[in-house]
Amino acid sequence: MVLSSVLGFPRIGANREVKKAVEAYWAGKLSADELTKAAADVKKASWLSLKERGVDVIPSGDFTLYDHILDHSAAFNVIPKRYLGKGLSPLDVYFAMGRGRQTEGVDVPASEMKKWFDSNYHFVVPEFSEETEFKLNFNKALEEYNEAKALGITTRPVVVGPVTFLALGKAAKEARAGFEPISLLAQLLPIYKQLLADLKAAGVESVQIDEPVLVLDSASLYEKQFAQAYAELAPVSPKLVLTTYYGRLASNLAFAAKLPVAGLHIDLDRAPAQLDEVVAALKPTSLVLSLGLVSGRNIWKTDIQAALKLAQKAADILGKERIVIATSSSLLHTPVTLASENKLTPEQKDWFAFALEKAAEVAVIASVLSGSQDPKVAEAVEANRVSIAKRREFEHNSDATVRNRVAAITPDMLERKNPFSVRKEIQQKQLQLPKFPTTTIGSFPQTKEIRQARAKLGKKEITEAEYEKFIEKEIENVVRFQERIGLDLLVHGEPERNDMVQYFGERLDGFVFTQNGWVQSYGSRYVRPPIIVSDVSRPKPITVRWSSFAQSLTSKPMKGMLTGPVTILNWSFPRADVSRELQCKQLALALRDEVIDLEKAGIKAVQVDEPALREGLPLRKADWQAYLDWALPSFKLATAGVTDALQTHSHFCYSDFDDIFPSIQALDADVISIEASKSDLKLLNTFKHYGYSNQIGPGVYDIHSPRVPSEEEIKERIAAMLTTLPADLLVVNPDCGLKTRGWAETEASLVNLVNAARWARQTY
Ligand code: GLN
Ligand code: ZN
Repeated sequence: MVLSSVLGFPRIGANREVKKAVEAYWAGKLSADELTKAAADVKKASWLSLKERGVDVIPSGDFTLYDHILDHSAAFNVIPKRYLGKGLSPLDVYFAMGRGRQTEGVDVPASEMKKWFDSNYHFVVPEFSEETEFKLNFNKALEEYNEAKALGITTRPVVVGPVTFLALGKAAKEARAGFEPISLLAQLLPIYKQLLADLKAAGVESVQIDEPVLVLDSASLYEKQFAQAYAELAPVSPKLVLTTYYGRLASNLAFAAKLPVAGLHIDLDRAPAQLDEVVAALKPTSLVLSLGLVSGRNIWKTDIQAALKLAQKAADILGKERIVIATSSSLLHTPVTLASENKLTPEQKDWFAFALEKAAEVAVIASVLSGSQDPKVAEAVEANRVSIAKRREFEHNSDATVRNRVAAITPDMLERKNPFSVRKEIQQKQLQLPKFPTTTIGSFPQTKEIRQARAKLGKKEITEAEYEKFIEKEIENVVRFQERIGLDLLVHGEPERNDMVQYFGERLDGFVFTQNGWVQSYGSRYVRPPIIVSDVSRPKPITVRWSSFAQSLTSKPMKGMLTGPVTILNWSFPRADVSRELQCKQLALALRDEVIDLEKAGIKAVQVDEPALREGLPLRKADWQAYLDWALPSFKLATAGVTDALQTHSHFCYSDFDDIFPSIQALDADVISIEASKSDLKLLNTFKHYGYSNQIGPGVYDIHSPRVPSEEEIKERIAAMLTTLPADLLVVNPDCGLKTRGWAETEASLVNLVNAARWARQTY
């Protein structure tokens, strides 16, 4: 019999129960026991519903209250000293690592968070040093295994693999120079042995051991460590299924296929082309191959016929008994269930499969392969065939105008008319900005009142006209505020936007939205990505009304504010029937029209944010160029349609430019703003090294914390920047938008920023 398997399930609850419980616990409104109980209810519901859908291999140990890598760090005692000795319970130490803590007598910042591979999920980075003392504080995999068993459900525990755990970590500040976390492998393995042996003793038959780093180029450096780790672990463990996802094994396959494990899982959603190679490599072994056929990353119904074809191909060579049908990765990147969507049309609903529907798909595919005669299975296969055919039919409805426009893109559309040196003079003439101009990144505090007004509009408790009046008032306040404190290039504050991607998606054709399609971004922060379903176009101007209103209030220049094409694409669920390149170009054309319209409306500077450009880089360096080849032109297409007089800005939420600097330079934005960084000088040296000549605003303070930077501090920052950067290039701004901040600290910080810039004008 061919088994079906789900690698991991959303940890948020069908109705965001975990967010609610965790936040109530933080607020002191729920006890630790009540939190545990709420979590247990969510786990129970997930296990039961997976079983109900006919999944054979159900995961346990993948649940988390915050982040699964943070769980692993806490379990293995990888806890930075700064969180200890403060009288906090282990649970509070855990949350303090995740989100920092500022309570009586305790003031510790959060640990660093990083993007999880190429997804929009963030994990808490483990910190290692020579002083790290591994021990097993708890065994989550075992606890959850027993928890499920008590409900009558046998599960397969999920454990983060030792090489991945170390490779994703970083050297702690106190580690000696050159320390590499992977050097701790020998000390770490005994703890893994203990964990795995405990699972075996509890009767666990097999364990999913996640080593996603195997899809990265860097894993080739760890061949020896993989061999050492698995040689030690295999003898004491339940059967191990070495699990990879998000990409292809490529050259790492050669050694991965030789590890002493019982099975290998591969991602055939992201990397279907690797199937032949992997099957060939496993043929001479006795390993079971888990085929990741049902996407853990998108929300589209699986084409069951296509999946069956691939599975059959593998089964023909390896034999059915060596095949498992699985999700490509954990389903944590997909919403829980379509069942709670009432606003999608029946036609649209029929296109999608969220986590629970995907679970049913793996079960059906496995049943068919097993030769099941169950009429229900045949029915499900037939229903899927019909749905897929209908979707294909829908997908044929391309928008000829949009397609023709994309086909007619010419190279000259990607370039400004004149180089920056010429544009600069023209722009300065109309902007009249002082030296070291001050500006902000776009949003101002999204207050409770703003969110309430939006909610009221949604519930039709206020009219569209009333809402617009309210937004106008907000914009006016933000404009007056900026005038009063003396900022130079103003913004309207973005009060009308719920989210920088959703807002645009809702106003473009080609997108649909869910009501409850939440996925975890980090901790208790969930997002509801828009879904691109057809060709994208702009039925009418989106932001022009607000930007011109804002400009009409002031004689100072107003900066228009848009989200870039690459970021809209990367933070949405894209279509699967056409390339991301095509979708990005369509978005770019829509935005190009918007930028042109802003200029026509008298706006003299427009910022097009691309915070997701970097995270969209493929996992393998060999694939970078192909991505950049459409991502960079898309940005340029969006921004180059205007006259030389329009000053284009772009913003990136990172400062990690070492390996992509030439790409940033190639965007040819007149001004870029980037995140504040602890190593400003290193960063600016990169700019100098590459001869960056357009203007740049390296954030002079960190907006991610409520702390107010002193005027002195900002002056020092500016002075340090000017040791490397020519004075005429420097723009003075915070390092990101202010929407998550309160007004009090925003005002205090910006006043200091303006004063520091004034000081610089006199000093340099
Ligand atoms: N303009 C956006 C804002 O200010 C930029 C947000 C971002 O960089 N993520 O909120
Ligand atoms: Zn930012």
